Amino acid sequence: MDPSQKSFLGARLFVIAALALTAWALVFKTGVANTDEAGIVLQLPAQVGDWDGLDLLFCPDRNCGGQYLAARLETPGVCPRCGAALGNMNWAERAMLPKDTGMVRKYYARAGNRDGIHASIVLSGDDRSSIHRPQVCMTASGHEIVREQVIRIPLEERAAPLEVMVMDMSRSTTNSDGTPAIQTTFYAYWFVGKDRETASHIVRMAWMAYDRVVHGVSHRWAYIALSGARDPASNAHFQTIADFASRLHPALLKPD
Ligand SMILES: [Zn+2]
Repeated sequence: MDPSQKSFLGARLFVIAALALTAWALVFKTGVANTDEAGIVLQLPAQVGDWDGLDLLFCPDRNCGGQYLAARLETPGVCPRCGAALGNMNWAERAMLPKDTGMVRKYYARAGNRDGIHASIVLSGDDRSSIHRPQVCMTASGHEIVREQVIRIPLEERAAPLEVMVMDMSRSTTNSDGTPAIQTTFYAYWFVGKDRETASHIVRMAWMAYDRVVHGVSHRWAYIALSGARDPASNAHFQTIADFASRLHPALLKPD
């Protein structure tokens, strides 16, 4: 059995156990308190290993849809195309996410603009509905998920590896001369709650139900996503994701 299958079996058993416990606790416990506690810091470092990070800004106007590297703007914070004030969410995110959702993002690249990675952290606000099943957003935006698997990334700071869900995606597009082309990308993610971490959306939902019912609390969960281009003929992006995520992970830990 390959490691990703084993991890999924474990996840299923956990979900069943958590639901059983939740059902039991429902009988005995009442009342849920929202806490402001999150499992990570809402901040992306300026550097991750040998990657340098750049700030990205988005125009809130749906018809404009401009996105810019902050450092290259002539007038800071203003859309050069339409004059709107730029922010860190695009129009779709602004429309879909509750107002108190926290979000940070950066574009990272190695020397010579190699191995470019868009990194983002979404931290749920009070109503906890900020985080969706990522697959839904991807297919809605025209991406086809070609393959989906969990990779296990060794970490220096602890014995247990970091589990990250990697989706290989492709999308039909056109070249500048009008000929059809296929764009191949990856989208990788994991979730972090207070003292919790998982690559599975279902496991995250089970933890939320468990904490709500058994401990009477609802913590703020964070969703960490990495995306970039991939070579369709190789798995080289797995190593790129592992190199990046293993260096990002310690930078997101909360100081005790
Ligand atoms: Zn604009």
